[in-house]
Amino acid sequence: MGSVGVLALQGDVREHLATLSALGVESARVRTPGELDGVDALVLPGGESTAIAHLLVTSGLRGPLGERLESGMPVLGTCAGLILLAREVLDGRADQWGYGALEVTVRRNGYGRQVASFEAPLELADGSSVPGVFIRAPRILACGPRVEVLATYAHGEGPDPVLVRQGPVWGASFHPELTADTTVHRLFVESL
Ligand code: GLN
Repeated sequence: MGSVGVLALQGDVREHLATLSALGVESARVRTPGELDGVDALVLPGGESTAIAHLLVTSGLRGPLGERLESGMPVLGTCAGLILLAREVLDGRADQWGYGALEVTVRRNGYGRQVASFEAPLELADGSSVPGVFIRAPRILACGPRVEVLATYAHGEGPDPVLVRQGPVWGASFHPELTADTTVHRLFVESL
């Protein structure tokens, strides 16, 4: 496995780099098309999806990243990163664009503004649990037939899918980089 990039335009970049380095994985910030060329996989961090989308355009990365996604580069999008990968985004800004690489429908801030942030245990497919930190999180409302659900969040109206995968494209509605638990990054890295 080569190096895993972290898209470093906006959002919680450092935390992803720290988690990857805790796993002993070679990682690098990606801010330019040249830096994108140097990585074999990419993490799209949490932050603000509209801000990251804007910076993808101004950095010249929008097109090159789209091409890498089409050629099957593995990606893990967390929170805002998931929104950028989703096929359909509800409650987006009128001009909000995304890559549509993951056949899911998400609602931005889909857990409501009153509970802007919360923590909850999440259940992995093997029955184990990982901590989930949700910050103005997108809610996954629907998944296409090719989408595998790897973790769920059980709550009153749930369970909701919160970690999903469609081949090389992974999305998490929570922030696995904000806890000491490295499970999600480890699963992603092991798939490379
Ligand atoms: N609500 C944010 C957005 O729409 C995502 C929040 C996050 O990444 N923590 O981009």
